[in-house]
Amino acid sequence: MRFSTKAIHAGQFPDPLSGAVMTPVYLTSTYVQEGLGKNKGYEYSRVNNPTRDALERNLAALENGKEGMAFGSGMAAIDAVFRLLKPGDHAVVSDSVYGGTYRIGKFILEEYGLRFDFVSTTRLDLVRKAIRKNTRMLFIETPANPTMEVTDLSAAAKLARSKGILSVCDNTFATPCLQRPLEHGFDIVVHSLTKYLNGHSDMLGGIAIANRRAVVERLRFLQKAAGGILSPFDAWLCLRGVKTLAVRMERHGASAMKVASWLSREPRVSAVYYPGLPAHPQHRLARRQMANFGGMISFDLGGLQKAKRMLARVRLCALAESLGGVETLISHPATMTHASIPPAQRKSIGVTDGLIRVSVGLEDPDDIIADLKQAIRA
Ligand code: PLP
Repeated sequence: MRFSTKAIHAGQFPDPLSGAVMTPVYLTSTYVQEGLGKNKGYEYSRVNNPTRDALERNLAALENGKEGMAFGSGMAAIDAVFRLLKPGDHAVVSDSVYGGTYRIGKFILEEYGLRFDFVSTTRLDLVRKAIRKNTRMLFIETPANPTMEVTDLSAAAKLARSKGILSVCDNTFATPCLQRPLEHGFDIVVHSLTKYLNGHSDMLGGIAIANRRAVVERLRFLQKAAGGILSPFDAWLCLRGVKTLAVRMERHGASAMKVASWLSREPRVSAVYYPGLPAHPQHRLARRQMANFGGMISFDLGGLQKAKRMLARVRLCALAESLGGVETLISHPATMTHASIPPAQRKSIGVTDGLIRVSVGLEDPDDIIADLKQAIRA
């Protein structure tokens, strides 16, 4: 099956009771057992639930992975992945990474004896240098939030394998529609389902997908034991959203290309970060490893006051955290999504006070451009 067909059908069957084409929402905490040790494969919904199972099978199939473990948020999925590490272990993480990933590493897990170093994974020579004797994980995000830096998936996976360390890719921005890290040799893919996979800004969720039996078993155990699971209703919403992923990503990509091209010609914009623009430093790599360049754009207005003024004037674009929905969302990473990163570190990765991030929605791109234009030029 090809991608868009899989998005609609993979891992789903007509309901055995009624023939319903849509997987029902199994709102149940527990399941009657026929006798001690005799059940239909379900015991308790923290362990498994038919609606969550359908979503996990579907997303694992889309990433070409063996199994998916769904969680109540993207951060809960990332937390479970970091718990594959033990006290004393060290992880190398992309320096341009979602602020919450930085925060959980530096401000929570380091208190439990894990160690994190953040380096630009666009430079594999720097990654190689950062790998120590106790390094057990390479965690990358590509395209990265919010600088849109692109990491070479095949080369990064190869480096991690040669060092015997686990490789993890946060594929939230691209989705499996545009790139599939496991096919490049990555061990684990994580997603915030809250974004493009659900696509409608009406739920939160996360998933970790893996191939290697030992990794799957440990993640499954962490999901069951720590219990940060995705609810059946949210699993159902996401299952519904994923069915249109292929058409949505095509339109997000085409519209973002149009918006980014306009921004790159706008004199009041000092820089535009979008992998689809030929001027983007990793444009050729993005062309090679992505089916299109996605719906996320960042641009710089050259200062906090200019950014504030512009954000106060947008009308169609909604000033909000998050991304990947049908509506265009606009945000200010330095004070919103990346506020937990210390200012010096933020500056070093290019998250300036004038940086604006746009999640280009499915409205007519000319309306999005008109809104940005009046807000930037007013
Ligand atoms: N990964 C990326 C790239 C994100 O942008 C986000 C949230 O914005 C997350 C992970 C965390 O996901 P959630 O908000 O669902 O916990």
